Amino acid sequence: MDRNKYLLLLFVTVLFFACSSQKSSIEEVFSVTANYASDEALLKKNLIHIASLEFNGRETGKPGQKKASQYLANYYRDLGILSPMENGNYFQEIPKEFFNKNTENGSENVLAYIEGTDFPEEILVISAHYDHLGNKDGQIYFGADDDASGTVAVMEIARLFQVAKKDGKGPKRSILFLHVTGEEIGLFGSKYYTSHPIFPLNKTVANLNIDMIGRIDKKHEKNPNYIYLIGSDKLSTELHDLSEQVNQTTEKLDLDYTFNSEKDPNRFYYRSDHYNFAKNKIPVIFYFNGTHEDYHKPTDTADKINYELLTKRTNLIFYTAWEIVNKEGRIALNTN
Ligand SMILES: [Zn+2]
Repeated sequence: MDRNKYLLLLFVTVLFFACSSQKSSIEEVFSVTANYASDEALLKKNLIHIASLEFNGRETGKPGQKKASQYLANYYRDLGILSPMENGNYFQEIPKEFFNKNTENGSENVLAYIEGTDFPEEILVISAHYDHLGNKDGQIYFGADDDASGTVAVMEIARLFQVAKKDGKGPKRSILFLHVTGEEIGLFGSKYYTSHPIFPLNKTVANLNIDMIGRIDKKHEKNPNYIYLIGSDKLSTELHDLSEQVNQTTEKLDLDYTFNSEKDPNRFYYRSDHYNFAKNKIPVIFYFNGTHEDYHKPTDTADKINYELLTKRTNLIFYTAWEIVNKEGRIALNTN
């Protein structure tokens, strides 16, 4: 064999092992995650409850929202998932003044936390807002898709990580399950969290934000196996590639990037809670099903949710989170 052929063979061999070892690490992760999948019945039960009459549209600062925050805190307490707050309760209280006269009362974010086994100081934030538009002239805005769907997804992902932890497969990095308030009146809950962070923002490796994942928009009526992703490539190419790879290995949804374009007039990148993380140079992915005829109407109700699809989308986010918290190095920011 001549020297050039030898070098070529060596190069190809190294390339082969480099590629195959990268692949096998993702496959290893998914041989584990194959044992953990979202429970459609639980998602449905929780969603029907949160989007029920009892919570009266969950308007920020009103009794319905307070009931919802209690419901979330009780859920985590029952599962044995701890609060990261010093006083041990699950609430990050936000004073009335912070809301710029958009509410007559203070409100609270709800925080639950699983500590990482190997890199406890590095943290992934999985978020969804639990407030909605309330009750106007006796009409309840149930907000089943917006954003009871994201709320129950965060609850279910937390439950799965807790089950894995009990099996001795706790996450290597820490995870904060963050239910933010005040989204509908101006992204106040996430703004408060990022200006009063419980964990240092420079140790926050990524934010996966979920706002409306239970419905199908007009464009996808004939091909409902989709989800819009927004922001994934803006700060970290690595996060984008990881998200694509995880989807290919697991749920194989059609990942639609229409709204990710800077030219898109909807500017959704700036319109939900992830933006307050992105502003602080934290890589984000925003999961979103697009708008529909019941968007911000009293008709956004639990009976219109596609629970099978909600389950698949929740799985995708769970597996993506799994990879982020268990991979060898933390998600890298782009250098440019
Ligand atoms: Zn929303």
